[in-house]
Amino acid sequence: MKNRGDSMGKELIIAAIENKQRDFIRIAEEIWKNPELSYHEKASSALQKEYLRNAGFRITELDAIQQYAFIAEWGSGAPVIGLLGEFDALPGLSQKVQATQEELVPGGPGHGCGHNLLGTALLGAAVGIKAAIDAGKLPGTIRYFGAPAEEQLGKPILARAGVFSGLDAAFGYHPSDLNTVAAFGTNASVQLIFRFHGSPAHAAQVPHLGRSALDALTLTQVGVEFLREHMPSGARIHYIVTSGGLRANIVPDYAAGDFQVRSPRMKELVPLLKRVIDVARGAALMTGTTVDYQVQHGCYDVLPNKIMSDLLYENLKALPPPAYTPEELDFCRKLSNTMTIDQKRNTLLMLGVDAVSTENLLSQTVHEGVGYWGQGWTIPASTDVGDVSHITPTAQAYTATYPIGIGSHTWQATAASGSTVGMKGMVYASKIFGCACYDLMTQKETLAKARAEWEAAIDGETYVAAEDLLKKLAEDGGSETPSTS
Ligand SMILES: [Zn+2]
Repeated sequence: MKNRGDSMGKELIIAAIENKQRDFIRIAEEIWKNPELSYHEKASSALQKEYLRNAGFRITELDAIQQYAFIAEWGSGAPVIGLLGEFDALPGLSQKVQATQEELVPGGPGHGCGHNLLGTALLGAAVGIKAAIDAGKLPGTIRYFGAPAEEQLGKPILARAGVFSGLDAAFGYHPSDLNTVAAFGTNASVQLIFRFHGSPAHAAQVPHLGRSALDALTLTQVGVEFLREHMPSGARIHYIVTSGGLRANIVPDYAAGDFQVRSPRMKELVPLLKRVIDVARGAALMTGTTVDYQVQHGCYDVLPNKIMSDLLYENLKALPPPAYTPEELDFCRKLSNTMTIDQKRNTLLMLGVDAVSTENLLSQTVHEGVGYWGQGWTIPASTDVGDVSHITPTAQAYTATYPIGIGSHTWQATAASGSTVGMKGMVYASKIFGCACYDLMTQKETLAKARAEWEAAIDGETYVAAEDLLKKLAEDGGSETPSTS
């Protein structure tokens, strides 16, 4: 049942966001101009933290758990709603705000995933919610998480320490080319390093005395190729060689490779990982070498929540998307023209947009409507929001900060994320999430339904971080001891 003060409370939130939008744009622009890689977000984190401290939020610094992580909280008691902020950039994606490729700093990092907008949009939502709490319109607590290193799947570090415990629900946002509920799941993912150790020898003179670590690594890759046929559908394995010997005339006594294994559910990923580890063990046995492995990082699949997704959709429908100036539309058109139609089509299809909507969207430059895409779909990529979704009911929405068909991790996305188009999409997102939080904090029944849906989806599982799952795997399965970072 809707709260009677519904429209008044939401008007307050929207007004607070509009009043402060210049601040939010300044923060997002500053983070964009000084892009910091995962685990190095010193200035980005400080900028957000100090702004929220000055705005009256209670700040908890979490550097002892993960450097530059923090919580900004306001309100009291239940329900406690989380907003999952991020601010890290990507290497090699420096780009000016223009529609032709040109680095701002040669070889430098850039916000090609729009995380300058991601964190700041949810910071804006938190500021809006605080205004409604202060006006006595809202029960409960809002908790903004400044969570570093999303691009290196950093949230499990916080999750493992219990930082997301105590939430009744959480929302995640991502900049995108669409205004849509992100109703899809994502793949769970674990990245491992395998290190093989053999014996060196002169490769021509006494090869029979050598034991090649590179042979073991190569056979692991071959084994993985044969394993592919027998994986759950939707699973992925990719790998690179990071060390394969020094000279062809020396039998390599050391070789190493990074392997990334993904699957639509963590509970399917664990047995698949076990098989990949067995392949490496088998390769070591075949070649007379030894193997050890290390978990670099891992994250859970995203469990979507229909009740909370519906709530986000109601607010997307209720709040009008931004209008654009002719200059902004021209910028978007030119940026869009740097991508082929097929690239754009695939970007949309891989987000779970149906074929008819995709063709319709391809005839537009910027998404000026709203959608509800991705239901029943799992995108092959991964996000560390997945871990939070296994701890508390979580839903995500996107707003258009890039032209249609522009995907993340591109120079085009860096350009758009520093533009006024990006900023408009960000402020729009602040309003959507501010209002969705309002609904969840005032509609007890809706929150209870969201939690019941989540309980059913979790089906009795308790959250164990990927790193710990892998430790357990090693204890159950063999003599090799994984070292973990
Ligand atoms: Zn991202």
